[in-house]
Amino acid sequence: MRVKRRRRPLLWAVSVLAATIGLTATAGLVTGQNANQPWMNSSLSPEERAGLVLKQMTLDEKIALLHGNGMAHARQWQMPLTHLSNGGAGYVEGIKRLGIPPLFISDAAYGVRDSGANGRYSTALPSDLAAASSWDPQGACEYGAVIGRELRAQGFNMSLGGGINVTREPRNGRTFEYAGEDPLLAGTMIGNLMKCEQAQHVIGDIKHFAVNDQETGRNIVNAILSKRAMQESDLLAFHIGIKIANPGAVMCSYNRINGDYACENTYTLHDVLKKDWGYKGFVISDWGGAHSTEKASAAGLDQEQPMADYFGPALTQAVVDGKVPLADIDDHARRVLYAEFLSGIVDDPIQKGVVDVTGGLDIAQHLEEKSIVLLKNENAILPLKPDKIRSIAVIGGHADVGMISGGGSAQVDPPGGNAIAPPGKGATHWQDHVWFPTSPLKALQAKLPKAKVQFDSGQDPTAAAALAKSADVAIVFAYQWQSEGMDLATLSLPDNQDALIEQVAAANPHTIVVLETGTAVTMPWIGKVGGVVEAWYAGSSGHRALANVLTGEVNPSGKLAITFPKSDADLPHPVIPLLSAEDEGQGTGAVNGRPHSESQYTVHYDEGLKVGYKWYESEHKDPLFPFGFGLSYTTYAYSNLKTDNAQRTVSFAVKNTGKRAGTEIAQVYATLPEAAGEPFKRLVGWQRIELAPGESKTVTVAVDPWVMSIFDEQNNVWSLLPGAYKIFAGPSSNETPLNATLQIQ
Ligand code: BGC
Repeated sequence: MRVKRRRRPLLWAVSVLAATIGLTATAGLVTGQNANQPWMNSSLSPEERAGLVLKQMTLDEKIALLHGNGMAHARQWQMPLTHLSNGGAGYVEGIKRLGIPPLFISDAAYGVRDSGANGRYSTALPSDLAAASSWDPQGACEYGAVIGRELRAQGFNMSLGGGINVTREPRNGRTFEYAGEDPLLAGTMIGNLMKCEQAQHVIGDIKHFAVNDQETGRNIVNAILSKRAMQESDLLAFHIGIKIANPGAVMCSYNRINGDYACENTYTLHDVLKKDWGYKGFVISDWGGAHSTEKASAAGLDQEQPMADYFGPALTQAVVDGKVPLADIDDHARRVLYAEFLSGIVDDPIQKGVVDVTGGLDIAQHLEEKSIVLLKNENAILPLKPDKIRSIAVIGGHADVGMISGGGSAQVDPPGGNAIAPPGKGATHWQDHVWFPTSPLKALQAKLPKAKVQFDSGQDPTAAAALAKSADVAIVFAYQWQSEGMDLATLSLPDNQDALIEQVAAANPHTIVVLETGTAVTMPWIGKVGGVVEAWYAGSSGHRALANVLTGEVNPSGKLAITFPKSDADLPHPVIPLLSAEDEGQGTGAVNGRPHSESQYTVHYDEGLKVGYKWYESEHKDPLFPFGFGLSYTTYAYSNLKTDNAQRTVSFAVKNTGKRAGTEIAQVYATLPEAAGEPFKRLVGWQRIELAPGESKTVTVAVDPWVMSIFDEQNNVWSLLPGAYKIFAGPSSNETPLNATLQIQ
């Protein structure tokens, strides 16, 4: 799409020229003596240090912190200083004379973006949704630390990772970038991820704030949702994540919320994020997500990206004209400075280095091993028994060469390029289907050297079925590609893969399906296959992790962070509302165009706070696989649930009743007293428990009153209702063999 360029004032052109050649206050007047400046005293708090610098700054210097300077590799977003950006998504000038470094900003959802275009290497971790399926905050921390280290090694000091939008719409093309449908799980996982990423001295970010739950019409959509519903679902996930990570930045999203754009929304930015939650970092706009100067500034936007359409000369002018108070500029600039001191990018400047490739591969493998979810295992078809299996038919999904990954600004570039790209095709487009060169076929062959492992592409289901018939076991690799800028029309597998699976399963009852998906999929063939393994977008070592699970070297432990419904018809919105002809092409998501403000495109999230499993329970719809579900090669038994009203703890025993060691994710849910008007369970805690065969452990989960509370919209407070809370414990959201009551006075 062509973006109309607006004329820039002459003054702007002159100041840009001056900045380029190093004449302005922001780029020039180098003293080199900053080490002795009072704000370089690292025993002061980030707030104090930010305040001290701010006092020295001119208006131009403050404004320079509040906007981007274009985006590398994006033709429509070029500015005179874009070339300084280290090939990242954004660049903010520093204040050299005061020792404040520029911001070198990169996307980094499941790894650092654009390594291909920049001639670098990045580890691809399993998708964020995969990692959420490990329910392992420590694993999330390792995930974030890898990304933080690689950002820094590549010359970046700010991340744009941290997607935390709850899965309200599983067909949302970005579901793989987020951490599932439960606010406590998503907030805890992404909070830990970003805490440890920021600890590597890169400014952390959490996004997309808020209710950015679909890509269709993302630049125009008006998401309608009550405050209570928003607070108890989408916003709660952010709040938990922000509390854990204290990220330097929060990115406001493209959409509108109850009428106002998220980047000029007084309720979400000013009232909730900054006032109620006391957030001290800065609000950064999504790329092209700013729409005004005065309104956005007053609402709480601190930094426009990637351009300076509203927070460059227009903001200076608004100050001069008295339309934006200087105090607001100070507040915006102070927040950016606070994030710089908080994350340590001033005290520990970027040090470029060689990425630890093998270290990254090991961590990616180990995290994927914890993230794979075993969904079906009839007659213990898995693990494959190396001494018994003579032949395996591997079918479909380009399993001979690799595994698929998630697209859009999250895309991590595979080493050597796209494993299925036609010869001669070099760089990837942000919406290419990209396969990593991680061949599960080869990984399986290496694990099962005595078995005859043969491949069929699955293009011709009849040929695939014939190969399946001749083998002891057939493994079909099925994929579902997702990307920013589009939603899935359906949760059905694309490209005729359902028919392929049906035909293969009809030819060989020992058929296992391995899913490489970004979100839930429907499985009309579920009754006909012996096993189903959800591998997600598996990352740089996904094939090895998968082969370890399939052959039993690793006992699977992952549990779903999203519900898998039986059909699209069971979703709160069976169909994503279509765009009008006029809205088509007006920032539908595939482009970052300027939206036309007259759009009436609206999504009514009338399911309210009944997101995910809460919806299925309250609507009495049986899911295909419930939230929290996942099998193991061993079995567990739950017993002896006790609640402690005074301590607000829940304890119970979990025993490994099988023959091999395993890790169980034991979950605790609660239903609130009737007065809450929420007659369905909510997750209130969990624990991962490692158990040897026959071993039993007592699990104690402390229930935070906050996650048992409701949001009182009238008084704008959270309230913990007195009364009887029903507590459930068990292996998934709809298998809770234990229950008891917790009394709250
Ligand atoms: C995406 C953001 C991303 C930004 C910069 C936008 O299109 O929504 O998630 O960080 O681009 O690449």
